[in-house]
Amino acid sequence: MRIADVLRAKGTAVATIDPDVPVSELLRALAEHNIGAIVVVGSSGVAGIVSERDVVRRLHEVGIDLLSSPVSAIMTADVFTCSPSDTVDSLTVVMTERRFRHVPVLSNGELVGIVSIGDVVKSRIGQLEQSQDQLQAYIAQG
Ligand code: AMP
Repeated sequence: MRIADVLRAKGTAVATIDPDVPVSELLRALAEHNIGAIVVVGSSGVAGIVSERDVVRRLHEVGIDLLSSPVSAIMTADVFTCSPSDTVDSLTVVMTERRFRHVPVLSNGELVGIVSIGDVVKSRIGQLEQSQDQLQAYIAQG
């Protein structure tokens, strides 16, 4: 199973935000889209990723003033991305080892989707169910 298969099932919509807008605007966007992370896109493309975890950590450190700081102040600039041809298995390993739950998908430098840990788990459960059905059919045939 490849990332392209996951995107075919879930769609290619990706929420993005400008690095210069305030964190208060980020909170509005996270709540409005009911998501946990947003890809930060500036004038020269993907500039980073920011998740609810970044907001919680920095709110604890900085306090309420954080709300007027720009998104660029709290985002992770060194963003790990994948391509549609990558396998779901390889992405599962990276997400588990590096402890992040969202990976933007790029194709020829263009943002073409985002995969969350929930999408990865759903896809692996589907694969396991399929193998189980095949095994049961094989056993039933005698
Ligand atoms: P998350 O698990 O997605 O809520 O993110 C946990 C931490 O990892 C946060 O500091 C994020 O900014 C960062 N993060 C999330 N996704 C990525 C990614 N694809 N590449 C690099 N860092 C990430």
